[in-house]
Amino acid sequence: MDIIRLRHPHGLCSRLSNQAKNNQFGEGGMSASDKRPKITKSDEEWRRQLTPQQYTVTRLHGTEPAFSHTYHSSKKQGIYSCVGCGEPLFDSSTKFDSGTGWPSYHSPVSQDALSEHEDKQLFSRRTEVRCAACDSHLGHVFPDGPEPTGLRYCINGAALIMESDDGQNAFKNS
Ligand SMILES: [Zn+2]
Repeated sequence: MDIIRLRHPHGLCSRLSNQAKNNQFGEGGMSASDKRPKITKSDEEWRRQLTPQQYTVTRLHGTEPAFSHTYHSSKKQGIYSCVGCGEPLFDSSTKFDSGTGWPSYHSPVSQDALSEHEDKQLFSRRTEVRCAACDSHLGHVFPDGPEPTGLRYCINGAALIMESDDGQNAFKNS
C-alpha cells in the first residue's frame, strides 16, 4: 500500500513586491466639460476688429435678421470659420437648408470647436453655442436636425467667415 503524503507544495508563497507604478497618463483629453476660451480680448479690441453687425452678434449675443446674410443660402464648398478668431467651426458638407433663414449645419467640424451654454432667456430653453476658442456667440443648437446627428446648429452668418476656395484665409489666426 502506498502512503500518500500530502506535502505543502513549494512556491505558493509568493512574495509581495511593491512595485511602484508610474501612471503617466497624458494631460488633457478629460477637460471637455471645462472649455475655457483660449483667446480673450478687450471690448475695445473686439470693436476695432469686427464690423458693428459682427460685434453685435458675437459679443452681445445678437441675432441677425432671418434671410439677411448671404451664408444662409450659400452652397459654396469649404470651411466656415469663426469671425472672431479664425478657428474652423463648420464644414459646408454638413450644411443643409433648414428654411429658417440662418445658416444651418448638422454638426461642427469637431466637438471641441464649440462650447454649449444653457440659454434661459426665452420661455423655451435653448442651448447656445459659442466658439470654444474665443467665446464668440454663434447661435443655438436644436434637436430637430437631419441625420446623421439629428441636430440643427442654427448659426448667425455674421459670426462666420468662409475660407475662399483657393485656400487663402480671409482671416489669419494669430
Ligand atoms: Zn472664435
